[in-house]
This record gives sequence, C-alpha cells and structure tokens, in this order.
Amino acid sequence: MPDLVPLTLPHADAYRAWIADTSTRALDAARAGAAALKAAPPASALETLRAWNDLSVALGTTAARASLFSEVHPDAGVRETAEQAALAARALSSDLGLDTELYAVFTAVDATDLDEDGARLLHRTLRSFRRAGVAADDAVRARIKEIDDRLTVLGQAFARTIREGTRSIAVTPAQLAGLPQDWIDAHPAGDDGLVTVTTDYPDAIPFRTFAHDADARRALLEASLTIGYPDNVPVLHEMFALRAEFASLLGYATWADYDAEVKMIGSGDAIAAFIDQITDAADAPARRDVAVLLEKRRVDQPDATRVEASDTAYYTEVHRREQLDVDAQLVRTYFDAGRVRAGLLEVTGRLFGLTYTRVDAPVWHADVVAFDVTLTEDGSPAGRMYLDLHPREGKYKHAAQFTLSHGVAGRQLPEGVLVCNFPTGLMAHSDVVTLFHEFGHLVHHLLGGRQSWVEFSGVATEWDFVEAPSQLLEEWAWDACVLRTFAVDAAGEPIPADLVARMRAANEFGKGFLARTQMFYAALSYYLHRDNPDDLAGRTAALQERYSMFGYLPGTCMPASFGHLAGYTSAYYTYMWSLVIAKDLFSAFDPDDLFDPDVAGRYRDRILAPGGRKDAVDLVADFLGRPYRFDAYAAWLAS
Ligand SMILES: [Zn+2]
Repeated sequence: MPDLVPLTLPHADAYRAWIADTSTRALDAARAGAAALKAAPPASALETLRAWNDLSVALGTTAARASLFSEVHPDAGVRETAEQAALAARALSSDLGLDTELYAVFTAVDATDLDEDGARLLHRTLRSFRRAGVAADDAVRARIKEIDDRLTVLGQAFARTIREGTRSIAVTPAQLAGLPQDWIDAHPAGDDGLVTVTTDYPDAIPFRTFAHDADARRALLEASLTIGYPDNVPVLHEMFALRAEFASLLGYATWADYDAEVKMIGSGDAIAAFIDQITDAADAPARRDVAVLLEKRRVDQPDATRVEASDTAYYTEVHRREQLDVDAQLVRTYFDAGRVRAGLLEVTGRLFGLTYTRVDAPVWHADVVAFDVTLTEDGSPAGRMYLDLHPREGKYKHAAQFTLSHGVAGRQLPEGVLVCNFPTGLMAHSDVVTLFHEFGHLVHHLLGGRQSWVEFSGVATEWDFVEAPSQLLEEWAWDACVLRTFAVDAAGEPIPADLVARMRAANEFGKGFLARTQMFYAALSYYLHRDNPDDLAGRTAALQERYSMFGYLPGTCMPASFGHLAGYTSAYYTYMWSLVIAKDLFSAFDPDDLFDPDVAGRYRDRILAPGGRKDAVDLVADFLGRPYRFDAYAAWLAS
C-alpha cells in the first residue's frame, strides 16, 4: 500500500467554496450512508461497522474542519461559512443519534465474530445511541429533542451575557500605585479625573496582581463576580432543571450520573468523593501558604486576621518578588519565540522518536507554518501539523489543539493544528509551558492516529483523561536540563539552573490554596447541577466556605459568570483528575534523564498510540505496570 499523503489545503480565495463544497459533499455522503445502512443492512457485524465508520469519518472530518476554520480563518466570511458547516454537521449528527431505524440496525447485528476492537466499537456505538435517547418512546424522544434545542439556546445566551457583561470601576490615579508604568500609561484619567479599570483580563489581572490599594482590588473583584448577575440566574436555573430532566428521562438519578457514565470517574457520587479527597490533601499545604500571605498582608495592615480573595494575587506576587527573586522581564530574555519553537520540536522529536520536516504547503495565514511528521525509526508518515501561534484579529483567543483530519489507517493521515496567541518576540515562560501543554494534545492526536476505527483515533480517551498527556509534557518545560538546550539569551548564555529552580518555586507557591479554589469551582459545577438551589448566591457562599481558603464576597454570585457551567456542566473536576494521573505518569520517568528512551517509548506506545482503543485506566496500568495511584500527586502537593 502506498504511503498516505497529507491533505492539500486550498489557496486563499478558494476557502469559502472549499469549505461549503466539501462539507455539503461529506454530509450528503453521510446521509446516503445512513440511508443505505437502513435500506439494506449488511450481512455481518463487521460490514455494518465499516459502513458506520465510513459515515463517521465523513461527518467527523467535516465537523472538525468547520470548527477549526470558524476559529482561525482570517476572513470573517469564511469563518461564517465554516460556522454554518459546523452547525449542519452537528444537526446531522444529532438526527442520526435519534434515528430509531438506524439504531435497530445495530441492535440486530450478531457480534459473535467481532474481534476485541470491533466489539468495543459496537458497544460504544450502541451506548452513544442509547445516551442520545433513541431507545425511548416517541413522546420522550420529542421531549429530549426539545431539551437539547433549548439547552443550545440557553448556552449561547449564558455565554453572550458573560461576554457582553464586562464591568468596570473608577479609581483615582493615586490608586494605580504599584502597577507597571506601561499599564498606567495606557490608562489615562478621563474628564472626571478618574481612571476606568475594566473586568477584562488585560486590565483585571495586572490590577489584582500589582495595585497596592486593597479597597480598589476588592471593588474590582466584586465587579468581576457580579458579571452576568442577576441576568444569568434564571438561565442557570433552567439549564440545571433541563439537564436533570434529560438525565431522568433516560433513567439516570442525576445529570452528573449521566455525564460521568462515559468518563473515568464513573458516577456523580465519585465526583463528590474526589472533590473531598483533593480538598483534604490540599488542606495542610493550603494553610501553610495562606499563612505566608497573611504575614505579608500584616505588613500593610497589622490587625488583619485573614486573607481576602482579592488579596491573593497581590500578596503572592509580593512573596515571589521578595523571597523568590524571579524577575519576569529577565526570564523572558531567554525565551525567543523562534528558538522556543525549534527547541520544542527538538525536545519532542527526541522524546517521541519523531522527525519534523518544514513543508511549503498552502496555509490560511502567513503566520502559519506546516510540518510533515515522520517516525524517525522507519521514516513512515505520522501525519502533518500546522503551528498557528500568534494573535491576529478575529482569531480564537485562547490556546488549543484543533483537528484538521482524524487519522484512519490506510485512509487518511492525522493532521492537527496548534492554535495559540503568543508574542512573536520574547515569550513569558508561562507561554512556553502552554506551548508544551498544547503540543501534548497534538502529539496524542498524531501518534494515536493510526486506527482502523475513527472512533478510537487520536485524543479519543475518556474526557477526564485527555489533559493528562498535555499536563505531563509541561514537566519538560520546567526541567533545567531540557531548558538549557534552547532557552538562551541574546548573548548565547543558557538559562541558569538556579533561576529555573526559583521560577519553579514561584510557580508552585500557593498550589494548595489554588487546588482548594479549583475544588470550590468543581463543587459549584457538581452541586449546583445536582441540587439546583433556589438561592444561588447563598449556596455559592456555603460552598466557598467549605472548599475555598478565601471568603465569599457579599452581594456577588460567581456562577452567573462561570462560563464552564455551560460546557463542562457538572464535570469541572476533570482537569484536577487528569493532573493526579499526570503526576503519577511522570513518576515513571527518571528525573535525571527525562529522555530515557525505554520509558519514553513505553509511554508513546502504551498511552498515546492506542488512542481510544482501551479504557484510560487500562492504558495507564499498561504503562505503569500497576493501577494508577493518588500518592505522586499528594506528595507533589505537600512538597
Ligand atoms: Zn489541555
């Protein structure tokens, strides 16, 4: 069989037509595939799954590309077309999920002769159908569809209210004391002599980190925590109620039980238990670090008895500056964006046995660079990746890995895109860490992209596991020996190991109370879904008291602006869950030689390469040679 070749993207003018045409063709093919399956079900289970796989490749590829270009294409018209294509793909996918005749084709197959992968695929396919509600009677299916549609509308309204709900406070120029001069210069006083500070991140983060004035910091945090309040309160109540109804129509006790069924964690009760487990493990480290903050606060305010939420960023910064002596501006001089990119490829190429070759292929913007990826050992193609690393107008604002093609053995290569917003000159070290993190997703997508079944291709594990490979790769961006290889200043001097050690200490300060804050958010996400309490602000205050180290600010209602309640729903715990596993995975590597080829090879072959062919718990056990444990995370937290 000849080697597969990557997709050739269109040139600039042709994008709109390309997206519209390819998505129409793919969705037509998927529709025709479904119709053929129903009209003449294949004789064998394997043939049925193959037909389903064809359809899923068409539908999944279209959905992925539409989503990508709706976020990254520089032309607003193309983004709009891509958004339409994404909606059409989602609508078809939802129709197929509720198609009773199609479901009947799958329930009728004889699975006896299927191999392990085939049996797993059939099981998962039937489960997806059931979870979509296809097995319910007509009235229930109609209600499920209604709920789905309404949740889409509510989710959009919720997000829009947050997006458009920026608030601001007015402060005197004297209250800007402590902020960097360039920030002050960018915020002149208005005609009334006051300076407007908004709740948007570029304003709020520096202000909460550097402004000396505690009242002003508290006022800004209060403003941030009232975004979407009260407008989003009824939206949330309806959202929680509809999700609970949806779960109950399908026979689940709670929405969290429904949602957790397809995750590692398994059940709603296990979420509550996990939140408490982390909270307990974080208790002592959190108290230790809060005591440090309180000591700093008492320098300014001798009678202070506790640290407020609005003080944490500020006094964390004071502590870092005074005790840890990390000068962020100095650190940046070691991270030239071009060198960092080259270093990332060098490090990951060595670690995973990959060779990256820059190719002169058509791209959607001049900033984007394309690489063909091959396995170093035999030169066989492993896919293609595009790095779209710098900001521009209309582009996705965060950092993420997007799929361009799902890898399917013998049919199409995996292709992925890193979409980030880094400066083109010198980078902050936190950006370097983000780059390694996102590359962890990309390499999972590529290495896991040699599957026969697209369902198992790439990042196809349980959703609460997917962050583990990316969190693991962050460790390489914190290792002094690794950093020495590419983090060099203009004079060619590599970053000193003691500076890296201080950077690390500065980064890890507060991990206990940050874990508690994360568990407060996880508790909001879980308990608000479970209980849909009438008094949202009151319940928020109670959960904050229980889980966070910092007190509730009266008059605020954080859930009204907690955007993740729409996307993560009851499962905000997932990031921490992945981190527990990532720390355990990392414990298998030799801290003095992070490139040990045996460990790295085993990690590549047993965790990344299988994609979704096994449950994550088994992938992890295959790699570690034992079930995963909580110990490595707990030890890290306590250190
Ligand atoms: Zn991630």
